[in-house]
Amino acid sequence: MTSPATGADGAADLPDYAPIPRSALGPALNDQRYYVGRVGRNLYWVTDGVYQSAFLATRDGVVLVDAPPSIGNNLRLAVDEIAAANGVPNRVTHLVYSHHHADHAGAASLFGGDVVRIGHEETKRLLLRDNDPARPAPEVTFTDRYTLEVGGERAELAWHGPNHSPDNIYIHFPGHDTLMFIDVVNAGWVPIYNVNLSEDVIGYMGAPAIALDYPWTHFICGHLGRLATRDDVAVHQQYIADIDASAREALASIDPVPYYVSGGENAWAGVKAHLDAVTERAAAPIIAKYTGVLAAADIEIFTNTTTFAIMQSWRLDRGHSGPVHP
Ligand SMILES: [Zn+2]
Repeated sequence: MTSPATGADGAADLPDYAPIPRSALGPALNDQRYYVGRVGRNLYWVTDGVYQSAFLATRDGVVLVDAPPSIGNNLRLAVDEIAAANGVPNRVTHLVYSHHHADHAGAASLFGGDVVRIGHEETKRLLLRDNDPARPAPEVTFTDRYTLEVGGERAELAWHGPNHSPDNIYIHFPGHDTLMFIDVVNAGWVPIYNVNLSEDVIGYMGAPAIALDYPWTHFICGHLGRLATRDDVAVHQQYIADIDASAREALASIDPVPYYVSGGENAWAGVKAHLDAVTERAAAPIIAKYTGVLAAADIEIFTNTTTFAIMQSWRLDRGHSGPVHP
């Protein structure tokens, strides 16, 4: 196990990455290390600079969507601050799970036993499987669509197939001109490893078009320090489309045979050499094009592993695995 060297101030010494575009950054955090802002009317979002949550502050109580543990008890402070300022109750009556992942749901148990938890039926199945006391399974589940109405406000929940996870849902606030959809588009930033740690590559690549089919102006993407726009989703789509085209071109251009021959009896050595060469050829122009456009595009392993995952999807899902042996 290796760890990065640490400097005199205890911070890790990082490679000399390209500067983060200022447009990728959001508002400053307060002394408690969070920011809460109004999205529209009585819909608010909370960030710690890395994770995001949202809540509706209604006359009948608060509807919280996601409870990332990194924000944790600051969610309580953010809700209290907004409820007091607006003269509405601060009691969290409903909690919506975007998906089952612990990094977005691990503070769900902070809001007491009388909260109504709502999620997709697959979220319930996965949370029962995971058996994590920090993420109680939802009491209310749905298959395709669910309308949540609290205090005169409305959220439309919908499942349109697997993407980042099997259970990841679209949360539309029609009265607030807002869509919340987590872990696919990172506003102003590249996805992290392996298409943002996603399970279904084809579903992941198709999801932004589904998001854009909804009417909205504000987009809560679940990560980093600011809200997203329709332009952010379009830039993300172009990044993925460029990787997709580049991966296909590289697969078609590089002859695997010399790599397998050089691997000799170590078949996996040949496989690695071939797929690494395809990945490197496919990713290089993407890293060059998006450095300075999307934050952290020059962290090669993020674009490389995303390219690798999409290249595998060409081989495994879309039939570019090579010719049938004669
Ligand atoms: Zn996730």
